[in-house]
Amino acid sequence: MNASPTIRKNAADLHVVPNFRDYELERSRFSWANAAASLAHESGGGINIAYQAVDRHCATKLRDKVALRFLGRDTAARDISFGELATLTNRFCNVLRSLGIGKGDRVFILAARIPELYIALLGALKNGSVVSPLFSAFGPEPIATRVNLGAAALLVTTDALYERKIANQREAMPTLKHVMLVGQEGCATRAPGTLDFAALMSSASDACAYEPTSAEDTALLHFTSGTTGTPKGALHVHDAAVTHWVTGRYALDLHAEDIYWCTADPGWVTGTSYGVIAPLLHGVTSVVDREDFDAERWYRILQDERVRVWYTAPTAVRMLMRAGADIARKYTFPHLRFVASVGEPLNPEAVWWGKDVLGLPIHDNWWQTETGGIMIANTPAFDIKPGSMGRPLPGIDAAIVERRDDRSVKIIEEAGTQGELALKRGWPSMFRGYLHDEARYRMSFAGDWYLTGDLAQRDTDGYYWFVGRADDVIKSAGHLIGPFEVESALMEHPAVAEAGVIGKPDPVVGESVKAFVSLNKGFDAGEALRMELLGHARKRLGAAVAPKDIAFVEHLPHTRSGKIMRRLLKARELGLAEGDTSTLEPSP
Ligand code: ATP
Ligand code: MG
Repeated sequence: MNASPTIRKNAADLHVVPNFRDYELERSRFSWANAAASLAHESGGGINIAYQAVDRHCATKLRDKVALRFLGRDTAARDISFGELATLTNRFCNVLRSLGIGKGDRVFILAARIPELYIALLGALKNGSVVSPLFSAFGPEPIATRVNLGAAALLVTTDALYERKIANQREAMPTLKHVMLVGQEGCATRAPGTLDFAALMSSASDACAYEPTSAEDTALLHFTSGTTGTPKGALHVHDAAVTHWVTGRYALDLHAEDIYWCTADPGWVTGTSYGVIAPLLHGVTSVVDREDFDAERWYRILQDERVRVWYTAPTAVRMLMRAGADIARKYTFPHLRFVASVGEPLNPEAVWWGKDVLGLPIHDNWWQTETGGIMIANTPAFDIKPGSMGRPLPGIDAAIVERRDDRSVKIIEEAGTQGELALKRGWPSMFRGYLHDEARYRMSFAGDWYLTGDLAQRDTDGYYWFVGRADDVIKSAGHLIGPFEVESALMEHPAVAEAGVIGKPDPVVGESVKAFVSLNKGFDAGEALRMELLGHARKRLGAAVAPKDIAFVEHLPHTRSGKIMRRLLKARELGLAEGDTSTLEPSP
């Protein structure tokens, strides 16, 4: 903890008055009831995410403002205003009604980040249906598994994806009443038994009354990343919009005049909560890019689209770092004013890289599919401690605990002591269940506390520091070693692009630490470098914590949401079964 110096916030450096300046004051006067009241509600007290995100703005001057800006590969961008989005989502809602898809029915979407994905997602929410967006890169097997687990009534996809991934296994998805295709005109006639998105949309009416939904009606089904095992389906309700609004304000510092870019795909909870809902709630223009990572393209987007607030992930930052500073130096980012990251621990090296290359440090924040929104963050309101996740946002009570039994936890008050990170239940976007796994859901709570499965510690200033997932923590010679600490130390070495650390069974010490390392350009994976890295780690971490062994790999295995899959490194190392690899990203 505290290894790296604090980055002080200086009011003179900020070109916008942040939404959030006094941490203690804001926490003390915050209440979820007041936050909910600042969103417009129906007379019956109901809340609907899509109404809040889109229609609410249409009576204001935001109506003609660009809500979503879809970048083309070589073509011009397509802009959709809040007013147009309201009409298009009304139409889609009407299409669903004409097909008999109603409130509570599950609508799955399998598409790249094209406009129709956003229209279907928001239109289905307006209809009171439960939406589950899937990564378009999933193979046939993970798609069928999720569609069946979720008992999907409708699948919206593209003609190309249908042909490659669905057509052959349509019979294996018996709950599907309809499959709707986005594509060339007439695409549905070429694929028997499918419906044509465009044709249905063009004959649907522009006007529709959205389905009254209450705060507790289910809105979204998101599968977890599958980093530690088989992905779990987390159910979220319409009230989540309140968290999205609040956290968009406090953690991402969204202001209506911002141009915002979230690089996550809606197939991962980040891409829905913060790639769709939060920016729309704030009336912000979002840039949407459907292409895969490409350092040059990303810098160009940041520059040319005048992105002001950027939300990305550690793996993306590490890829930019690996691509080299020369590419970055060709671009400037005078508009960029706030950068945040989520999904994995952000190595201090990456925070400093941001300051150096983008001109701004990167704000790490922590949350999970289960929490539905950002819980702990480095925010504009206070100094950044690189390597820490920041502090709990207003409305969020966090603690380091030890589970006692099903009903109670022991709260560890002492700073600097490791334990499980827990959150006091009651924030609106908290998941309301795991799909088909009530027992597991209940097991994640002890009394008032939700237990996150992550180990962390808190420092005397109230900042939380990630230690590791309970599953990944290494027990060696009486020490508990978090992989993150070891990985961050390795990352400090100029040769290291990325590191993944596991524990290997060892007869003497219990587990010994092994690191897998991918290298930056220009470094040779040889014995000399291996010895140098082992020495560097020993110097930084001490012999008890430093890796005993280092293996060089071209790429580490990642989930589609960009997380290092340590369990796979371990299974491969020990020659064990690989387990569920449905979310594994193929190596580039
Ligand atoms: P699964 O639950 O299926 O194993 P997952 O936990 O990776 O997958 P997500 O919900 O996408 O699925 O990720 C949440 C987890 O990601 C957190 O519990 C934590 O382990 C990790 N995480 C997210 N943000 C951070 C962060 N800023 N620092 C450290 N860890 C983070
Ligand atoms: Mg998890």
